[in-house]
Amino acid sequence: MTKRILIRYGDLTLKGKNKKKFIDTAIRRIKERLGEKASYTPNHDRLYVDVDVDDEARVINILKKIPGLVSVSPVTVVNSEVETIIDQAVYEAKTWDENATFKVEVKRANKRFSPNSPELQKILGGAVLKARTDLTVDVHTPDYTLNVEIRDDATYIFSRVYEGIGGFPVGTMGKGIALLSGGIDSPVAAYLAMTKGIDVHMMHFESTPLTSIESAQKAIDLSRQLAVYGKSQRVILHMVPFTALHQAILNKVPEPYHITIMRRMMMRIAERYANLDYTPVLINGESIGQVASQTLESMKVSEMVSSIPVLRPLITMDKNPVIDIARAIGTFEISKRPFEDCCAVYVPSQPATKPRDYYAKRYERLFDGETLIKEAIASTRTLRINSETTIDLSEKGFTVSDALEGYDDYIETK
Ligand code: ATP
Ligand code: MG
Repeated sequence: MTKRILIRYGDLTLKGKNKKKFIDTAIRRIKERLGEKASYTPNHDRLYVDVDVDDEARVINILKKIPGLVSVSPVTVVNSEVETIIDQAVYEAKTWDENATFKVEVKRANKRFSPNSPELQKILGGAVLKARTDLTVDVHTPDYTLNVEIRDDATYIFSRVYEGIGGFPVGTMGKGIALLSGGIDSPVAAYLAMTKGIDVHMMHFESTPLTSIESAQKAIDLSRQLAVYGKSQRVILHMVPFTALHQAILNKVPEPYHITIMRRMMMRIAERYANLDYTPVLINGESIGQVASQTLESMKVSEMVSSIPVLRPLITMDKNPVIDIARAIGTFEISKRPFEDCCAVYVPSQPATKPRDYYAKRYERLFDGETLIKEAIASTRTLRINSETTIDLSEKGFTVSDALEGYDDYIETK
């Protein structure tokens, strides 16, 4: 037995001539997860997927995690005979909570069908009230809407709507590189960017042994957790060895500027990667005033070394809503493990809250940053991570210079 699931796309309906691309991408993202076992019927702004009836709950859970889908409903398909429709309406109503309110909404695509919509609404409402005397009708804000669509071939009945993430399908908005620390914020920022259709590649700067190896592991585990939302259910994680740069900064730069210069070095490396691949944006987890180093001046001085914009999805958010998202997407437990990333250890006692570009440049002349940046890029390892495996593409011969042309294809075929 199969069950039909109705999928509604999110903001795609607004996209005019790009609509086809959006819908095709949404279907591709769905197929990657449900495979060819399911059958797919696109229909205007919706998609119907037929799955094994025992698989319904699992499939709905999967669909709820795909960016670009606004909601899903399991639909019962019956013959367009009044008696059958009444039986199914009552059956559906029997699954509702006690003392709930409801309304019936009938749509007739098949105008030859009799009775007409208002009449059938009355008939079905009456039948439901007779079978479930605890229910009441509320046409304005009902707990349940019993939707009945009389189509040419059959009648569709459903009353449950499961909310999806909304947004856009991953890939429709191009690529971005997220600076992923082991903290709470940056995975949430990466996730939010993914839900807006960006194919987010992660970049983590690791400073072992200045910081523990466990904090590098966190970046891997966070990426794995985020892979479920990603294109092909995988994410790419660039692990950049940052120890030499970190050490040079600790040794040479006056303490209040440690974080400023570290951020600028991270930005430069991320920007160079992005430029290899025509990636138009970087993404980080900064939020105004969250820590002493996240001031407007500080963001300005770190961003100005990058020729491409830095998106900050959390910029105006308070910590609690960020934590709520982190819990919902399963990154919180990983982020709060007690190992610190490179910026949490050696936090200067008095970081510059109003750093100046003039001083940043001056302090950067105290060590050979350019050589260290080149060395860090040359030794970066690129991992492809999904829910089960981590493949080290670097071990398969992937290097940054390989990436100059057709980077994405290269990553997929390795
Ligand atoms: P998070 O919870 O994301 O670590 P935070 O509030 O601790 O954020 P900071 O330590 O000030 O913030 O870092 C600001 C941003 O810089 C992070 O959100 C992240 O995007 C980036 N970042 C910091 N450290 C690293 C790192 N080791 N690797 C990659 N990105 C980093
Ligand atoms: Mg942090």
